[in-house]
Amino acid sequence: MTIGIIPAITTAAYIIAALLFILSLAGLSKHETSRSGLTYGIVGMAIALIATIALVLRTVFDFDDTNLQWILIALMAVAVVIGALIGLWKARRVEMTGMPELIALLHSFVGIAAVLIGWNGALGGYHGEASAVDLRTMTNVHEAEVAIGIFIGAVTFTGSIVAYLKLSAKMKSAPLMLPGKNVINLGSLVGFAVLTGFYVARDTHNDTTSLILLGVLTALALFLGWHLVASIGGGDMPVVISMLNSYSGWAAAASGFLLNNDLLIVTGALVGSSGAYLSYIMCKAMNRSFISVIAGGFGIEAGPADDTDYGEHREVQADAVAELLSGASSVVITPGYGMAVAQAQYPVADLTAKLRAKGIDVRFGIHPVAGRLPGHMNVLLAEAKVPYDIVLELDEINDDLADTDVVLVIGANDTVNPAAAEDPSSPIAGMPVLEVWNARDVIVFKRSMAAGYAGVQNPLFFRDNTQMLFGDAKDRVEDIIAAL
Ligand code: NDP
Repeated sequence: MTIGIIPAITTAAYIIAALLFILSLAGLSKHETSRSGLTYGIVGMAIALIATIALVLRTVFDFDDTNLQWILIALMAVAVVIGALIGLWKARRVEMTGMPELIALLHSFVGIAAVLIGWNGALGGYHGEASAVDLRTMTNVHEAEVAIGIFIGAVTFTGSIVAYLKLSAKMKSAPLMLPGKNVINLGSLVGFAVLTGFYVARDTHNDTTSLILLGVLTALALFLGWHLVASIGGGDMPVVISMLNSYSGWAAAASGFLLNNDLLIVTGALVGSSGAYLSYIMCKAMNRSFISVIAGGFGIEAGPADDTDYGEHREVQADAVAELLSGASSVVITPGYGMAVAQAQYPVADLTAKLRAKGIDVRFGIHPVAGRLPGHMNVLLAEAKVPYDIVLELDEINDDLADTDVVLVIGANDTVNPAAAEDPSSPIAGMPVLEVWNARDVIVFKRSMAAGYAGVQNPLFFRDNTQMLFGDAKDRVEDIIAAL
């Protein structure tokens, strides 16, 4: 096989990989086909990686200097090994509850890669194989690609870093409310358009003025990414994550244009459009304005500080809860992030089996953003072998809560907060929630009176029909099983 046929093989491999990525997305859209969807994705990525390495090696072997060839190959091998080792180590260590922050961190890598590729393009580095009639030599398309690629990449980079900090609780999840935040965002966008216009219109692009223009544009985009995500409250973070996922796709597509790499363009567009659609669906499910969220909380102003006196809460012990459950005929369990932290899904499944064996009707109510990942609770319950048919979505269970004897709120907080339905000034106002307060008795499992992820106090804890069962959710559920 001669080196010359490598581009043809690579093109074929890229087409196969692109098709596998499309099959992967289709598979991931349903529970039953999600495993095969993942397999398609892994195979597609392996093919894409091998084909790309082959293409790069071919370029390296085009150099006359043998020493340089071996230095480049050694550098590439070291980079691949280090990257693979870090990836393996991190993936094996990460807890399910740490997945969203890991995803945010990975999005930031795509962002910074796009910024570096953009700068490489600006400084005249490698940008793929030139086609016979290359429009870029006739127009300033290349410079526009550079500016747009750097902008999307930089917004994705700092936005994802802020998302990572917020999700890992290294930064407060409450929205940053700078005065005139909407003007700042709009001004940054206008600034980007003006700087891009000046940069693209210049006759030469590698002089000091051009590089200063590009430097200011990069700094502006880094600032905008930080500000957009910092301005969004904890309750809207699920949408922000899928939005950043979408941005990382567009950043990859922009890099694809700069590197003249068709697979990167196709893959980036797939990730970008599917992420945008997911953000839209999530906004609809959470009764949020899509435009407001992507514009960094546009139209949302800081509400008055919550100094309401909600009164006293009541505490309960595990044996009293066991007694309450024994006398109930219908029980609904609404799990949340705390169940994932405590890894309480196994005792919860045991408790469910015990209560059902006594003839009690037990069902689960799952909020679409409970936990820290879409479908987080469904995955945990499936892992603990809770039957699918008793696990219901918010819309399917909400109307039945008024006829329920006991609701067990296990580590959920924002997703059962009545303020969302009753207090228009609440930061989570309008978000559909599980209306557990309509049940006869509500037992809340948590360790303290601390607020949920959105940082909002929960009036549910002070209602007459609510009792707090403090402690780690796993320990408390095991105590109830023992008492039963
Ligand atoms: P919350 O994050 O609102 O609250 C979880 C509660 O669990 C806390 O109040 C905490 O209270 C309690 N808890 C933590 N550890 C334990 C433990 N070991 N044992 C018992 N309780 C524990 O949970 P929800 O699931 O109701 O809401 C999810 C929130 O996360 C929403 O605001 C959502 O917007 C956001 N989000 C969701 C994402 C998604 O895709 N699903 C992604 C990003 C954000 P205490 O400390 O007192 O124990």
